[in-house]
Amino acid sequence: MKLLLVEDEPALRSTLLEALRQGGYVVEVAPGFDQAYEKIKLYRYDCILLDLTLPDGNGLDLLRALKADGSTAGVLIITARDAIEDKVAGLDLGADDYLIKPFHLSELNARLRAIIRRRQFQGQHHIVFRDLLVWPEQAEVLVRGESVPLTRKEYDLLLYLLANPGRILTKEAIAEHLCGDTVDTADSFDFIYTHLKNLRRKLQDKGADNYIRTMYGVGYKLSSE
Ligand code: CA
Repeated sequence: MKLLLVEDEPALRSTLLEALRQGGYVVEVAPGFDQAYEKIKLYRYDCILLDLTLPDGNGLDLLRALKADGSTAGVLIITARDAIEDKVAGLDLGADDYLIKPFHLSELNARLRAIIRRRQFQGQHHIVFRDLLVWPEQAEVLVRGESVPLTRKEYDLLLYLLANPGRILTKEAIAEHLCGDTVDTADSFDFIYTHLKNLRRKLQDKGADNYIRTMYGVGYKLSSE
């Protein structure tokens, strides 16, 4: 799951960044309006944590820009302002939820999980695909009841495929999703091949064969047969 954290307060930003990365998210940061605007124009995110009061602009304008672009990213507003108008305006503009600072990290995590579940898996707590059963909140994957031990990246890759059933995902899109903006492209393609190979092998070991199809020269997709 790839997040964009838009927050101008350095201490809060680094606390959140560390906590979210520990929670297994790929996180990019934007300390102000302009950087955030550039990122949302260039990249896709599963969810955006959006501070409204930025030194160089208003977070609500970022939300407007996202919606105008038809973005499917979830938006969680994080703001110190408890003015009711801001919350209402944010929700009216299509934000999924909001948190008033200060908040507990456990609450942030719970709301993020709920947003991602709503956005990507129709509110389901678990995902079923052929013989696969996935519990996203526990990051647990089962094939016909047998647990499949995956690394965090293998798991993220599988979840990304499951969130896009029937769609071909290019290796560029996968690299961006798994690595964010921290890895250069040539390295990240090798990295993807390795994780794909391992994920396929682990699924195959449990009897889930040919779930991930290679579309030569294009990318990868989940195979429903
Ligand atoms: Ca702020």
